[in-house]
Amino acid sequence: MRRNLSALIALLTQLDEVEDIGLTTNGMLLKAHAQDLYQAGLRRLNISLDALDPPLFGQINGRGIKPAYILENIAYAQKMGFEIKVNMVVQKGINDQEIIPMARYFKDNGITLRFIEFMDVGNDNGWSFKKVVTKKEMYEMLKEEFELEPVDPHYFGEVAKLYRYTDNGAQVGFITSVSESFCSSCTRARLSSEGTFYSCLFASSGFDLKKMIRDGASDLELREKICQLWEHRADRYSDERTEWTAKNRKKIGMSYIGG
Ligand code: SF4
Repeated sequence: MRRNLSALIALLTQLDEVEDIGLTTNGMLLKAHAQDLYQAGLRRLNISLDALDPPLFGQINGRGIKPAYILENIAYAQKMGFEIKVNMVVQKGINDQEIIPMARYFKDNGITLRFIEFMDVGNDNGWSFKKVVTKKEMYEMLKEEFELEPVDPHYFGEVAKLYRYTDNGAQVGFITSVSESFCSSCTRARLSSEGTFYSCLFASSGFDLKKMIRDGASDLELREKICQLWEHRADRYSDERTEWTAKNRKKIGMSYIGG
């Protein structure tokens, strides 16, 4: 994690142009940093958690970390006033049996859980269509247990398709990058920590904005460059995804540019 993250967030919140800041995290260090982050002005957290079963979660995180530890941190941050969403990447045969326990737990705690269809991020995560549990399949499972109604998108390009539990109003969502791709309404640019601009999560290369800045480009020139890059983008990887592209197209790792 970047050193002095809360200092960076405090600077960003002072900019009028920045309307919203969220942090995506595995939640490991939340207890230690939540207070500083909140004081710096951060209000939104996306926390990754793929299972509630301790051995399974330990296996997925590769370090034997217990889900109870992350859940404690989530509860701590929730009490502090953060708006929290939990992201669960679902893989067939790995953690799909956790869909209902996860839904129940976060419904009861009033936290939005978003099920993410397993994607071929990076170049070596072993992805195949066979490992994807689609939104349709997950929705059918949930409907056996809970009564749900659709929620209208909050803004153009919202990635999750949201539903509300009719009995307590908690929400649950699906990110359908594989079964119902949404490239035509994608509004997300990404900037790596090294200052490279990417117009797609699955891009193979980006544009070196840092070099432009170091070479003395003005704010206007930077703005024009970013507009030009965005207007000329032809990214639609999720529309085009096949087993072949998953194996053969070179992509930037997700840990490098964010989800
Ligand atoms: S594949 Fe690329 S263009 Fe399509 S939604 Fe994802 S980030 Fe956007």
